[in-house]
Amino acid sequence: PLVLGIETSCDETGVGIVRGETLLFDAIASSVDEHARFGGVVPEVASRAHLEAMVPTIERACREAGVTLGDLDAVAVTSGPGLAGALMVGVASAKALALALGVPLHGVNHLASHVAVDIVEHGPLPEPTLALLVSGGHSSLLLVPDVTHDVRSLGSTIDDAAGEAFDKVARVLGLPFPGGPHIDRMAREGQVVIDFPRGLTGGRDAERHRFDFSFSGLKTAVSRWVQAREAAGEPVPVADVAASFQEAVTDVLTRKAIDACRTHGVAHLQVGGGVAANSRLRAMAQERCDAAGIQLRVPRPGLCTDNGAMVAALGAQMVLKGRAPSDLGIPADSSMPVTQVSA
Ligand code: ATP
Ligand code: MG
Ligand code: FE
Repeated sequence: PLVLGIETSCDETGVGIVRGETLLFDAIASSVDEHARFGGVVPEVASRAHLEAMVPTIERACREAGVTLGDLDAVAVTSGPGLAGALMVGVASAKALALALGVPLHGVNHLASHVAVDIVEHGPLPEPTLALLVSGGHSSLLLVPDVTHDVRSLGSTIDDAAGEAFDKVARVLGLPFPGGPHIDRMAREGQVVIDFPRGLTGGRDAERHRFDFSFSGLKTAVSRWVQAREAAGEPVPVADVAASFQEAVTDVLTRKAIDACRTHGVAHLQVGGGVAANSRLRAMAQERCDAAGIQLRVPRPGLCTDNGAMVAALGAQMVLKGRAPSDLGIPADSSMPVTQVSA
């Protein structure tokens, strides 16, 4: 099936076109530059930008993919979770397209889409797959028997998401928003010389929160460390702090992901979400999976951060597996739970 997918949960207007399990084109327009001076995404600005970018981005995706709207077999859209006003632009656009073309609409979960995108990169997902989902708003370990209708949460962050921690630490270090890519880049010039805390990995909390994460203590530890330096009138070794922070995050993420694979007898680990673009996380996950005999799947960085291809990829799976389409009346669901794959 030929499926067009629309993503507008945050500041990226993404339109991807997938045929079966092949990505034809992934068009993205981002309003990130408009938010940078506020140090975070401004919902109202994001919604307006989606509205302006939607039609041109759909047109560009079709043109580059070499298809016309009349060729589509289905339309997929992120129905949640995300910013309510931003989601609404995508959902309304997808409904209009599906209605006008007379094709089914599939409202899908943004988080399941971060997992499903790997299908257009590395082929069908083994069932079950263990997924480490690490993004700007979420950090979870998921057991995924079937990405089209059975996603189970083994644990998640009890405070900040991994991407949120990257962005907050970047701000402490005076790096621009969004900070993740800047920390990644700075860390390459630094050394891991500071032993920052690994949340929920020791003591009684570690037992109770075996597959959960906590990054707010780490963020606080980094900002205290930086403040102490500044108070002493000493320069802050930004690259070393970035490298040490990044090492602490990736150590916990990969350790817990591999523990989850072992505990649940799953031999495949998929890593998705914006933080999966991180070069140290990718390298450490590869090393540790190799050592543990686990097969690692991580999409190319451009498919880890938000995009339309991920939505089209999951939409195509819904069609291939014969899942019922969504009602044309579906709402945008800003707090859609990770376990709910479709609307
Ligand atoms: P969610 O998917 O939870 O709704 P989101 O869609 O806003 O959140 P994504 O686009 O999936 O988030 O990911 C964005 C996050 O990924 C940001 O926090 C950003 O800093 C982080 N990120 C992007 N690239 C990197 C990188 N190379 N290293 C670390 N973090 C990164
Ligand atoms: Mg973004
Ligand atoms: Fe995302």
